[in-house]
Amino acid sequence: MLIVMKNDATEGQVQAVIREIQKMGYRGVPMPGAIRTAVCIIGNKGPVDATQLLSLEGVREAIPVTKPYKLVSRETHPESSVISVGDVKIGGGEPVIIAGPCAVESEEQALTIATLVKEHGARVFRGGAFKPRTSPYSFQGLGEKGLKILQKVRRETGLLIATEAIDSESLSLVAGYADIVQIGARNMQNYSLLRLAGQLNKPVLLKRGLAATIDEWLMAAEYIMSEGNTRVILCERGIRTFSDNTRNTLDLSAIPSIREASHLPIIVDPSHAAGRRDYVIPLSRGAIAVGADGLLIEVHHDPAHALSDGMQSLYPQQFAELMDEIGRLKQFL
Ligand code: PEP
Ligand code: MN
Repeated sequence: MLIVMKNDATEGQVQAVIREIQKMGYRGVPMPGAIRTAVCIIGNKGPVDATQLLSLEGVREAIPVTKPYKLVSRETHPESSVISVGDVKIGGGEPVIIAGPCAVESEEQALTIATLVKEHGARVFRGGAFKPRTSPYSFQGLGEKGLKILQKVRRETGLLIATEAIDSESLSLVAGYADIVQIGARNMQNYSLLRLAGQLNKPVLLKRGLAATIDEWLMAAEYIMSEGNTRVILCERGIRTFSDNTRNTLDLSAIPSIREASHLPIIVDPSHAAGRRDYVIPLSRGAIAVGADGLLIEVHHDPAHALSDGMQSLYPQQFAELMDEIGRLKQFL
């Protein structure tokens, strides 16, 4: 249920609605909009009787929310959310490019790649210090040493940093270094981790689970938002299907579906979807054409010797080409 306030409702009237909702045994979350504020009721198991709330000063109407997710829903927040991170705005109309290696391997590697992706227009540097690998024998990341390298990358290049947390221990470390905390596909339904990410004062990049439906993905985002963190960025990274021509199947239909269902920004990761670098540029074009708010691209200066995901990492020259194409595509659109 959404309690919509009148255009001229005061902060005191909004607070009175929240107090009344608490008395009913639920929680009221204010959702400020461009024209008016709404208060979303969460924590109810069944229908809510809004009679008492409708009699309060400043209340305009009560709208039932038909979806199982509430805070992420466009029903409760009709305007698209723009997530500010430093001076970067994700969802503001200009696609934001997040680029870097799969994993931070060394200071030299990270700085080399960061310098070149910055030169071509990336705004955020990515690189894992904690890697969720399929094999326990594969490179697992440099841990906190990797985070310190990322801190140096931020200091030397001015790029913002996005990096993954894989469990509660790494989350508290990552939160101290990252500008954007990534929750990976394998952890999309790790509900205790999502709740902890919801308590951070950092934007969270939530990747779609390997076999998650749009509703399951949005419910995962709801976990984060229900803890108070409103800065959630969704990332489509391909799902598991019977097709084996690519590592995963990039679901570009997720972008209009998310747009319709949610106000949260959505970016696309064609690298993990394709699993091969020669498909990354064409899939990126598709993602921008379908309206993605940004791209997450793996880039390596020496992919043949990358410690993870070398096959899908773009060569520097290909990244330059991609950025050039995106620039021209934006003008065309
Ligand atoms: C990554 O971004 O490096 C990663 C592990 O991605 P995903 O969770 O989408 O597999
Ligand atoms: Mn990777």
